[in-house]
Amino acid sequence: MAKKPKRVVCTACNLGQDQVLKQTFLGFYTFQCEECGEKVQYPLSATYVAIYALSILSLFGLFFGRGACGVLAVGGVVALALDVGIRRRVKAAEAHERTRGEVIAETFE
Ligand SMILES: [Zn+2]
Repeated sequence: MAKKPKRVVCTACNLGQDQVLKQTFLGFYTFQCEECGEKVQYPLSATYVAIYALSILSLFGLFFGRGACGVLAVGGVVALALDVGIRRRVKAAEAHERTRGEVIAETFE
């Protein structure tokens, strides 16, 4: 089943576009900008944030637990830290979203 395209904004060139997002190993969404070719990352879904937050909490609960729990918790810390940065970039791009041709039009004013 094909995924539906989602409205996204490139964090490099701020172009708004419809893209089918891919998901990375850690759960981030990515797409390649149709104009500048930049590989753009989008933040985690609420489900992933909840899973990572829980895995971090479980680490504290187990007092630096063992094996799988420890790995999950480390992954959770890394993912949530990355997510903060990605969220900030996407917010900035969305605030400056432009459509194709807009930049050229401005230079002729
Ligand atoms: Zn771009």
